[in-house]
Amino acid sequence: MSANQQPTLFDLTPDPWQVDAAMDGLVARIVFAQGAEGIFDYRVPDALRTSMQTGKRVRVPWGRTNRFVEGYCVGISSAPVHDGRLKNVESVLDAQPIASPSMLQLTQWMSEHYLTAWGRVLEAVIPAGVRHQAGTREVILLSVASDWSSSEEAKKLPSKQAAILQVASDNSPLTQKQLCLAAKCTSGPIQALRRKGLLITTKERVQSTWDQESPEPESAAHELNASQQAALETIERGLGGDSHEVYLLHGVTGSGKTEVYMRAIEQVIAAGRQAIVLVPEISLTPQTCRRFRARFRTIAVLHSHLSDSERHWHWQQISSGSIHVVVGARSAVFAPTPRLGLIVIDEEHDASFKQDSVPRYHARDVALQRAALEKFPVILGSATPSLESWHHARTQTFHLIKMGVRIRDLPLPPVDIVDLRTMAFDKKRRGSISRPLEQQMRQALKDKGQVILLLNRRGYSTHIQCPACGMVLRCPECDIALTHHRDLEQALCHYCDFHRPAPPRCPDCQFEGIRYSGSGTQKLEAEVQARFPSSRCLRMDSDSMKRHGSHELALTKFRNGEVDILLGTQMIAKGLDFPNVTLVGVINADSALHLPDFRAAERTFQLITQVAGRTGRGDRGGRVVVQTCQPDHPAVQAAARHDYEQFAAGELPQREPQGYPPFGHMVRIIVRGPDEKNALQYADSWMESLRKGALARPAGIRVLGPAPAPIARLRGLFRFHALVQGPDADQLRQLIRDSVGQVKLPTDVQSVIDVDPTDML
Ligand code: ADP
Ligand code: ZN
Repeated sequence: MSANQQPTLFDLTPDPWQVDAAMDGLVARIVFAQGAEGIFDYRVPDALRTSMQTGKRVRVPWGRTNRFVEGYCVGISSAPVHDGRLKNVESVLDAQPIASPSMLQLTQWMSEHYLTAWGRVLEAVIPAGVRHQAGTREVILLSVASDWSSSEEAKKLPSKQAAILQVASDNSPLTQKQLCLAAKCTSGPIQALRRKGLLITTKERVQSTWDQESPEPESAAHELNASQQAALETIERGLGGDSHEVYLLHGVTGSGKTEVYMRAIEQVIAAGRQAIVLVPEISLTPQTCRRFRARFRTIAVLHSHLSDSERHWHWQQISSGSIHVVVGARSAVFAPTPRLGLIVIDEEHDASFKQDSVPRYHARDVALQRAALEKFPVILGSATPSLESWHHARTQTFHLIKMGVRIRDLPLPPVDIVDLRTMAFDKKRRGSISRPLEQQMRQALKDKGQVILLLNRRGYSTHIQCPACGMVLRCPECDIALTHHRDLEQALCHYCDFHRPAPPRCPDCQFEGIRYSGSGTQKLEAEVQARFPSSRCLRMDSDSMKRHGSHELALTKFRNGEVDILLGTQMIAKGLDFPNVTLVGVINADSALHLPDFRAAERTFQLITQVAGRTGRGDRGGRVVVQTCQPDHPAVQAAARHDYEQFAAGELPQREPQGYPPFGHMVRIIVRGPDEKNALQYADSWMESLRKGALARPAGIRVLGPAPAPIARLRGLFRFHALVQGPDADQLRQLIRDSVGQVKLPTDVQSVIDVDPTDML
């Protein structure tokens, strides 16, 4: 044990003479958000015995200098008090625990599962607004001393002061201002009473309140169709009790999954419990929120634009039990509902459920764990389930529920595939919209339908290259080609904030004919405007939707028919339910197909299927045009038939021999640093030690790499990555745990451990 480390009780072998020492000492187990990882024991001094509780934050001395640091109390035990090696807790910071016992259990599990220190997990999942008690202020309250009636001092009081004391005694506690008003006095006599010890002061935090959003007009529940009814009946069996079954609701786009969720939630509320609904970040649209607000009165919607104090206020409301339904993105899985009865994860396949910073958790897996700990069911819903969930349903870990038809038996839209390779011979045609797509657009617009176009790249030109010397304009900090944004006349890096003026000639060889090529949404917008000058077009991507509320504004315009053509990135692919959309065009279905990621085909299938699902939701029907250079690719083919099972049946056998999820577990390790050699050297020796460790374990663990990551440099740091794979998740984690610290981390190198990674770049 190093000299500046606080010992933990469980490291100590008790001295024989201490055995019958008093067992009434209290020891607090503390974890830290920064600095040392692990759990450390501190003695609770008598003065803090009553205020100390698990889930509260404390200040404790640390290290040789005993500087004070903040930590979370994660446990309290009684223990011999004689051990002189334990330091004392200095103070307790919270009046009420900010982490409940079940939150502590859940975060402990996360800490083990994601190989992240417990304190870091707690710090990340408890919103800053809650930790800092945002929106609260401290008030000084006056109350009457308990022994005032027997006090000699009180008997000799001037009549004014006696009257004030009587008022205070009838109404306490009060602020000074309130007492002045109630007793019709100034502050002078009150101060006198304080000096005599007859009025005592206490400090208390009060919270400013926020108004609930005004309720939506109530909307009646739909009469369920047969497949919704069947789905609900299956789920009902798991509600209300203590079962933690998982239901995978595989319902095609437009099959009415939301209505099933809401019916299940109604039953949960009727049983006196609460529900959490997780939706992808991007579909936290006003449309979704409105649907839930119109059905449930006591609802909290946790969106990303809440201020710290609003968030804190919601947190308090939720933990008091007065909120019945919480709707939010990923982090809402931690909402402190006291008696949770159900978590619904809509679009469970969505990438935004995985957090890409510490702790790198997946909200689906956290939800499943929370369900197991607190004993309630989970509904995972999607038209395109993740292959992990699908595999669990097929192997009977999850219950599979299918809803194979759309509401009112509306047909799924027919999909035409346009082979872009043959279009390339059409020399007279420029731009991203093929003739067949243009024809379909004209027809749809003529029939007063609306059109959605998907192009999953923002900016104007995605590539700036000099044909004379071959130079490609790249970010100096990242290994990424710059994108031309014409509205700003800038070339931007999409991975960091680097930008420079768009060069009129080659910066290297000064050639005047530098070429801007590749199409992003801005160029598509210009093309649409040129081809359809009388149609109203709106672009939705993260550039045009920067301002809070712009998303809502755009969708409202589209819904009201003020926009004919909506084009954008994947932002427009999810969840939108507009009956007047009669055509969806996918500009380039291959764009994600070649990424070095074993999920590339799955992502492509999901994106095409989801965006195709935005049409044909009304009586006028709808069609889809998919442009691609790989019309025969299984992902494109299956999406064109809306056939999830066909896709899964083709894709799973490809993953199995490699041991890729869902057939095995995976941890991705990233090593990065400003010095390429240092980073690589460290990565090499770490993987070397992992390989050695793997040899000593049951076979089946593979260590691949290190190799330069697909994005080999990011924000000035060189990046190497390695994959550690194996059939047993616990073994994998143990192997990595054991290897950490075996090779000394150079000061300029950082390492990232990503358990169950979803990002491979
Ligand atoms: P999904 O999420 O499965 O794509 P939605 O939940 O968005 O589908 O439902 C599609 C549309 O059908 C919504 O406008 C919804 O209000 C409507 N709807 C749902 N259930 C019914 C029903 N039983 N009868 C009529 N309309 C329904
Ligand atoms: Zn960059």
